[in-house]
Amino acid sequence: MERDWQAMTDLGKELRRQLTDALPPPQMPVLLAARSATDGAHKLVLGTPHGPSVETVIMPMASGHVTQCISSQVGCKMGCDFCATAEMSTRADLSAAEIVEQVAVACRIRAADGEVRGGVSGGEQGPLAARPHNLVFMGMGEPLDNHRAVFDALSILTDPKGYGSSPRRITVSTSGLARRLPALVEAHPQVNLAWSLTATTDEVRERLMPINRGVPIAKMMQTLRDLPGRGGRKLTFEYALLAGVNDSKEDARRLAKMANEVDAHVNAIPFNVYPGARYQRPDKATVASFAREVDRSGGSISLRESKGQDIGAACGQLAGSHETSGAPKPA
Ligand code: SF4
Repeated sequence: MERDWQAMTDLGKELRRQLTDALPPPQMPVLLAARSATDGAHKLVLGTPHGPSVETVIMPMASGHVTQCISSQVGCKMGCDFCATAEMSTRADLSAAEIVEQVAVACRIRAADGEVRGGVSGGEQGPLAARPHNLVFMGMGEPLDNHRAVFDALSILTDPKGYGSSPRRITVSTSGLARRLPALVEAHPQVNLAWSLTATTDEVRERLMPINRGVPIAKMMQTLRDLPGRGGRKLTFEYALLAGVNDSKEDARRLAKMANEVDAHVNAIPFNVYPGARYQRPDKATVASFAREVDRSGGSISLRESKGQDIGAACGQLAGSHETSGAPKPA
């Protein structure tokens, strides 16, 4: 996909000049590209005009498909206590172009690396053939806190003249900005939703996620119930398992009940420890017993290990530690 207006010679010279002035292509240099030695996850650290960089992660899945985790903001003001992104001092919204550019860079790198097997729909050539099968807005930032840019980015990513990605293969995750969900569903009804739940009582959730003070669990559950018809849209609860905090059998039973009430699937992810983290991941036996209890209580659950832990690319570890103006450093 051509990005340089001047190279689009089917457009008139004057129009190309005007487009170049009005809509310069986003400048997001790749400051670092690190590949996991254990699971093939590929973290890209991209420079931004906002100061600190953002990170996006390309993850090869067992199915042979590729999932890309996208950032929507530099830093995040939601202040979740278990998240490295929340500790960044700079906060800025990414533009729709900067969000889409993360996919464009991933396509170019995958195409250059020869990691293309006929494209998502088959038959495509060039960087578009390398676009990821699945896109998840689970990187840095709260997508619904930057909703206009995220909605525009979704339009570009799903437009047949843009990236032509299937909305059913895109997931937007929120910490619980309930008031923005109806607008998301109206604008992009088929895009999947994920709620980063992570606690089953208001008391614990308020400690972990300040948003719960304004949007307690019952309010978010009601919002989910009130959303218009689901069609094929999937709903998942993301649940970071923190040792001794939210991993009891009572938590598992409450979680199953809540998930069943709104027909959600639970993705449980043992916490990924990062330098300075205040929490620990539960041991394997506790994780297994938690998942068994959710299952026994009638909940649908998958245990997920985040990819890219060895390169600081796992869930909750993205912290944009590279300054745009500074030299790239290893993660
Ligand atoms: S978990 Fe998500 S919403 Fe919470 S601080 Fe981190 S990036 Fe923001």
